[in-house]
Amino acid sequence: METPDLSVTRRVASLLDASPTPFHAVETASQELTAAGFVELGPEQAPTVPGRQYVRQGGGLVAWVVGEHHSAATGVRVVAAHSDSPNLRIKPQPDAHTGSWRQLGVEVYGSALVNSWLDRDLGLAGRVVIRDGDSAVTRLVHDNRPLLRIPQLAIHLDSEIRKSGLVLNPQKHLVPIWGHDLDVPEFRSYLGELLSVDASDVLSWDMMAHALTPAALTGMDQCFLTSSRIDNQLSCFLGLDALLALATNPGPRIPVLCFFDHEEVGSVSSTGAASPMLGTALDRLNAALGGDLEHLHRSRRDSLVLSADGAHATHPNYPDRHEPGHQIELNAGPVLKFNANQRYATDAQGAAAFTLACERAGVPMQKFVNRTDLACGSTIGPQTAAQLQISVVDAGCAQLAMHSASETAGSHDPAMFLAALIELLAS
Ligand code: ZN
Repeated sequence: METPDLSVTRRVASLLDASPTPFHAVETASQELTAAGFVELGPEQAPTVPGRQYVRQGGGLVAWVVGEHHSAATGVRVVAAHSDSPNLRIKPQPDAHTGSWRQLGVEVYGSALVNSWLDRDLGLAGRVVIRDGDSAVTRLVHDNRPLLRIPQLAIHLDSEIRKSGLVLNPQKHLVPIWGHDLDVPEFRSYLGELLSVDASDVLSWDMMAHALTPAALTGMDQCFLTSSRIDNQLSCFLGLDALLALATNPGPRIPVLCFFDHEEVGSVSSTGAASPMLGTALDRLNAALGGDLEHLHRSRRDSLVLSADGAHATHPNYPDRHEPGHQIELNAGPVLKFNANQRYATDAQGAAAFTLACERAGVPMQKFVNRTDLACGSTIGPQTAAQLQISVVDAGCAQLAMHSASETAGSHDPAMFLAALIELLAS
């Protein structure tokens, strides 16, 4: 294929900007799927076959394309990615007053590089549950005004920083300011105003801060993609586009897209990779195709999941942190990730399947393994493999600054990874 194809990257950048939270990532994907003729199934609707459908729950989503030629014993080809990213989440009673300062208490979600949240303009987004008569309804909120700020302590007041580097206590030092006036509303009132309801009708929220710097193509010749949430909405939206590419022409196996939430905190939730969310969707598809347990078993043995997630590029300022025999470059193609201790799920058979997909797509491929003397990160891959008894392969785009509020990837890689994902889903 011709590189660089930056149109894919530009599209993903706009989807990233539209999706400050996992709930918005699912909403963004839902809109794209609906526009392409996919039908959302409500809780009481069973899948119909053949068909293009999806289900969603919070930050989780499963979408599929069942063709005329698929049967209950047909395997699936899944691209699965996590929709969550490390960030700062608003506490249930967040309002803090320090003199005339108005502040909002936050919890750190996941392993955030918390220094990257300092001295940045931050907006607020998430979901809010409001009273609706005797019941409750959920509303999404996306406020892109620069409302919050976490100012770093001036260097003149921090005598330790030159000796020890920046040391941040998350309880004391990461409390955003959002006003300097007694008239600043309580957080509940702010949400009520935003949603045009009385503050007393705001029942609860899952709200979080997001960095407001938009995704951009940067560097000489626009060789970088810089954005929040590259880990891992970049994979989510490339998986989405791969499924959309097969929407009217699925391959021999059933192509499936899955977003899991809560990977950054261990995946144990109703929509995380440790949940039955994906397995239940596949079971329901099997039933819709008239299958029984034996068909399900055959289908699973004929299936493959691609766990799509970011990979560490070799950092030019820290080359010693990387395995010398496995140097990873930006803009050099998708990265296949290995770990003998099952932090990544890739095995030889899965690796071969992904290698062949890259060959068919005409894109180069790189292989990552961590230094043996450093602890390795993980993905949804091992959890998904354990839940489903399906072979899983871990791969993704190379990036720097994983878990920063602003991460850096290569701008040429998304088109290459997308081409490989399409080939894998179509195999
Ligand atoms: Zn990730």
